[in-house]
This record gives sequence, C-alpha cells and structure tokens, in this order.
Amino acid sequence: MTSYASKRCITCGDVYHMLQSGEGFPEYGNHTDSRWCIECYGLVLGALKDVKPKFIKRTVNVLETEMYSGVNVSQVLEWEREEILAHEGMLYARRVFVPLFDTVNPGNHNSVRQVFAQDGEFKGTPFILSTWSLSPDKNSVLIEMEYNVLLDKLTVPWKEYRR
Ligand SMILES: [Zn+2]
Repeated sequence: MTSYASKRCITCGDVYHMLQSGEGFPEYGNHTDSRWCIECYGLVLGALKDVKPKFIKRTVNVLETEMYSGVNVSQVLEWEREEILAHEGMLYARRVFVPLFDTVNPGNHNSVRQVFAQDGEFKGTPFILSTWSLSPDKNSVLIEMEYNVLLDKLTVPWKEYRR
C-alpha cells in the first residue's frame, strides 16, 4: 500500500505529490524534505553542496576522550543494574544498537545498549555499553561525541535537536 501526499511548495507555490512510503519510495529517496517541490529542493541541495560541516557526530571509546576516560566498564555495568532495578516491574524503553559478530566464535554474543550515568559528576550522561558473553576483556564503554572540525577535537556529548 502506498500513500501520496499533496503539498504546496513553500518557494514556488506549485502543488506537488510525494510518495511518503511504500512501493516505489526509493525512487523519490532524494526528496526528503516535504517543504519544497522536487525542482526547488534540487536547487536547495545544489546551493548547499559546498558547505563544509562544522560539527560531526562521532562514536568513540571513552578512552579517546579527555573528560570521560575515567569511566570504566564495571562502573557502567553498575549504572545499568541500578537503572534496571529502578524500573522493577515496569517496561521501559532502552536504546539498543546493532551488535558486532564474532565470526571465529559464533557463540560469543555482543550486546550494545545505552546506559545513563546514575550518579556522580556525569549523572544523566548517555554512555554506550558493549559487552561480550565469552570475552569480557573486549567489553568497552563508548560515547557519542561532538567533533568540532575547526578545533579538530571532541568537545561535548552529541545532542540531537528535532527540526
Ligand atoms: Zn517549488
């Protein structure tokens, strides 16, 4: 099933129809902003093509950061335990990530999930915990950081803003 939406372009005022999802959607995959018709959106993309990013999201091991290098796996496992206990008996949403696979030892399972610091100076900071069922020495703590291109350094945790 497909659904078309009729829209009026905010720039030229033309009415256009866009496929929002379903069969054939990829053919319109580059038309991801419903404010403009396809022609105007092409001009917008062309005008912005030479703009260089100033900030980039990078997921890194905490050991690569200055401020979080002291956060270790056992601390984050403890925060995770506290988080689970605090939600005892209730469902709660957790952000999980695609795991890695151990092709040499398929029984070695990886789990990657977000854990918020429960206390201390980093309380509320979202860390990413990666654990392995058979090789705990490979467990690690990651964090999504904002990489400042001009300063050439990781500065603060990445934050998403809705548009
Ligand atoms: Zn237009």
